[in-house]
Amino acid sequence: MTVLNVAEPAYMDDPDLRIFREGVAKFLSKAATEKRIEGWREAGMVERAFWTEAGQAGILGVSVPAEFGGGGGDYRHDLIVFEEVARHGVAGFAASLHNGIVVPYVVSHGTEEQKHRWLPGLSSGELVSAIAMSEPDTGSDLQNIRTTALKSGNGYRINGAKTFISSGQLANFIIVAAKTDPSLGGKGVSLLVVETDKAEGFRRGRKLKKLGQDAADTSELFFDDVFVPADNLLGETEGRGFIQLMSELPRERLTIAAQAVTAIDLALEVTLDYVKNRKAFGKAILEFQNTQFVLAGLKAEATMAKVFVDYCVAELLAGRLDVTTAAMAKMLTTDLQGRVVDQCLQFHGGMGYMDETPISRMYRDARISRIYGGSNEIMRLLIARTL
Ligand SMILES: Cc1cc2nc3c(=O)[nH]c(=O)nc-3n(C[C@H](O)[C@H](O)[C@H](O)COP(=O)(O)OP(=O)(O)OC[C@H]3O[C@@H](n4cnc5c(N)ncnc54)[C@H](O)[C@@H]3O)c2cc1C
Repeated sequence: MTVLNVAEPAYMDDPDLRIFREGVAKFLSKAATEKRIEGWREAGMVERAFWTEAGQAGILGVSVPAEFGGGGGDYRHDLIVFEEVARHGVAGFAASLHNGIVVPYVVSHGTEEQKHRWLPGLSSGELVSAIAMSEPDTGSDLQNIRTTALKSGNGYRINGAKTFISSGQLANFIIVAAKTDPSLGGKGVSLLVVETDKAEGFRRGRKLKKLGQDAADTSELFFDDVFVPADNLLGETEGRGFIQLMSELPRERLTIAAQAVTAIDLALEVTLDYVKNRKAFGKAILEFQNTQFVLAGLKAEATMAKVFVDYCVAELLAGRLDVTTAAMAKMLTTDLQGRVVDQCLQFHGGMGYMDETPISRMYRDARISRIYGGSNEIMRLLIARTL
């Protein structure tokens, strides 16, 4: 952290983690050059080759146990990857989705056989992952998904449409939420793995144009009678999809919260740099009391957010982070991120509105964090249940 001078939490005080961070930063500086990133933004997606390079550099599957071909680390290693990716401006590279959201489903809920089958590829970059829950007619209300996966011979036939799926164009390993028993509502939802190379009837739709996250591909997916073998059902029992989704939510939401804090820090950093150098009425913009007071308030709130996220990480590492606390972290940090980037853009004046200015992109990129991973209204619902 540069602007937020919060002491490093005790759980990060480990020389191996420092070496790991240096390795990640070195790889990104070398492989994710400014020119390459610009190309990804223009193309609306990261090059497939970069995933393989990232796998070879050991930054995929960092918290996957070594016996399954992973890095053998834990959530601290994941955090380092997320932070370094953000600091290098490689926001479109969905390492946080892959390492922090999809791969943990296999680690936590896969059978031994599934872990051996998939985790090595997910760690090497041979498999790029996505998770497909949202549909054209439902996002927040996942119990109402319409996609079905009905028993057929020695497997399932998947039918339905998904939308807004991150890495939808690149992914060749997709965890699909579908109803194996539509009569049971939420209790009939299961998670099934579609290996796209083997899936006849699977089709990728449009790469959707969107407000921000230019290099991240977000797509429609279609499943027309796609057959998957029975052993692609994640875990051993049908109908456990919702329980599996719920059990992973604290980590997913904490990941979004941690990314929000990094984004806040970066926004404050570029803004301080700007207001110290830009002059108006014979003074640096920072010398106006309004600038100082507003930035002081934001820095204080950001410091509080960082301390809370550090606490949540410690709770997660201890196996205690609950759904409500994670929802609070996601809601507070992403709401704050929205206010910070808006105010920081204001301090840039007209330059803040220009694409070439980093704060402009940070402003656009930030908007999604209040919507995905469970919208902030849904976070409020979850917290309200504990009142
Ligand atoms: C860039 C991007 C990437 C995404 N990546 C993925 C992905 O990889 N995989 C995936 O499955 N999905 C993904 N999504 C989808 C995302 O998770 C959903 O957009 C999100 O969950 C909200 O669902 P929705 O869009 O259907 O909104 P809706 O559920 O239709 O909600 C619309 C509005 O109503 C509010 N609302 C809904 N229910 C309530 C309630 N009970 N009380 C109060 N307010 C409520 C919501 O908060 C929201 O403001 C992505 C979306 C985007 C934009």
